[in-house]
Amino acid sequence: MFLSVLSATMQSTAEYTCAVCGETSTTFIDLSAGLTQTYIEDCQVCCRPNQFYVTIDDVSLDIEIATDYLE
Ligand SMILES: [Zn+2]
Repeated sequence: MFLSVLSATMQSTAEYTCAVCGETSTTFIDLSAGLTQTYIEDCQVCCRPNQFYVTIDDVSLDIEIATDYLE
């Protein structure tokens, strides 16, 4: 039996700028979910939904986040 511990520990937080209120905050990134991720999450400052476009560099694991305003 093989047990992978990578997916359980490859999690990180990253800064983003809210597309609605412009405040900088942090979001929790699950690196095991893939190197490009899009999801909707409420801003922790203004509680308005943001569309997140997350790109993770597969070598440096740098996380890049773009946010978009949602109606
Ligand atoms: Zn906000």
